[in-house]
Amino acid sequence: MCTRLGLLASVFMTFVCVGCAINPISGEEELMLFGPEDDIKIGRQYAPKVEEELGGKIANDELQRYIDRVGQRVASVSHRPDWEYHFTALKHKSVNALAVPGGYVFITKGLLEKLTTEAQLAGILGHEVTHVVARDSAAALSRQYGMDLLLWAVQTSGVSADAVKAATLTRQIIGLRYSRKDEEEADITGLDYMVQAGYTPEGMVETMKILQDLQTVRPIEFFSTHPLPQNRMAYLRQRIQIRYSDLKDVKIGREEYQQSVLKHLSKDKKDD
Ligand SMILES: [Zn+2]
Repeated sequence: MCTRLGLLASVFMTFVCVGCAINPISGEEELMLFGPEDDIKIGRQYAPKVEEELGGKIANDELQRYIDRVGQRVASVSHRPDWEYHFTALKHKSVNALAVPGGYVFITKGLLEKLTTEAQLAGILGHEVTHVVARDSAAALSRQYGMDLLLWAVQTSGVSADAVKAATLTRQIIGLRYSRKDEEEADITGLDYMVQAGYTPEGMVETMKILQDLQTVRPIEFFSTHPLPQNRMAYLRQRIQIRYSDLKDVKIGREEYQQSVLKHLSKDKKDD
């Protein structure tokens, strides 16, 4: 009897603990049927596939170290500084940045080429770190493709999975659409993170301006699912005015970005 009750209690406890998670950013309770450790399992398995799908890593250690350093600086002031994060630059020409479950953040060459300062890069990475912290990608995957697919991905991690199904899931991760609310939260909280990491909040607004200008030329893959850049600039400016109007000694990092990113990318171009 006792054992039975104990078992029931442990099943119930498991459900209570794993079934619901508090989003540390919104403070709201969200239905989450698996934990952050499952995100990591999916990330370990699918991050390499996403990398491959988007042209592979840019083969430059100095550039990769720099991207990771800026990302870690932003992640260290997030709501989950204890999680493990990986920031990687990929060769793809599209203008894109994305977060794979488990703390894997990617930014493409196409986007890196458009940026001009470290603060702008910190803005993009802050936005993606927020998606990681809020566990938006796992939530969006289960919303759009069902829980079964995620459970399958967790269960088959480490084992040779069905290749066609795995390839489909990889593309689904890349094309993931978040809700408008998640995106606005990623902009606002990403702004807070990059400011706390010591960067000028103007970097985030400049990033939106760059995207807006590109948008007029052709729709941008990743950002087409986001709020319109002009709306994003409006709510970001409002937040800056209220919270960050008298910041001092903030970092822009134009020279560092030129030396650690743009210089290498233009060299690559000549070699192509
Ligand atoms: Zn986003």
